Amino acid sequence: MNFTADLLSGTLIHYYATCPREAWLYSRRIHANQWDENILMGKALADIKEEQQLHKFPFSNLHFDKIGKERGHIMVTEYKKSMSNTQGAKMQLLFYMWQLKTSLKLKVINGKIISGRTVIFVEGNEENMRMIEELMNEVSLFLSQSTPPPFKEIKFCKGCGYRDYCL
Ligand code: SF4
Repeated sequence: MNFTADLLSGTLIHYYATCPREAWLYSRRIHANQWDENILMGKALADIKEEQQLHKFPFSNLHFDKIGKERGHIMVTEYKKSMSNTQGAKMQLLFYMWQLKTSLKLKVINGKIISGRTVIFVEGNEENMRMIEELMNEVSLFLSQSTPPPFKEIKFCKGCGYRDYCL
């Protein structure tokens, strides 16, 4: 399977940065246990966001949490239920920022990740844009492989919806 870059989504990027095996399983529509506590918490968080009028922005295959302007520049916001996986959240956010920046030819774009009272700012500078581009290429190549990498226990297995499948 040729998994081209246009098939990538923020979820896949987040999963890859967390556990490449998880990204591969998700890419083949092998879905995680929907009754997993973490997945239910994520869904509950999504409901709260809607009540609070924080909007999803249906642009292409992008479904980030909020977009707005701060000091005249576009700011994309992702809400997370915890900061236990900031690398995954950052890569997902950078993926959205890269898509918007390149598609809309924006000069400046920034992002932030919010979990409770914690806020992490993510700059849309050249270095970060280059990094996410390289990661996207890497993920496309990886997901083109016909089999997933073998199971290897990592710290995220405990909270992963695929743990019944893998363990
Ligand atoms: S259970 Fe562990 S190895 Fe399996 S997909 Fe989840 S994080 Fe990856």
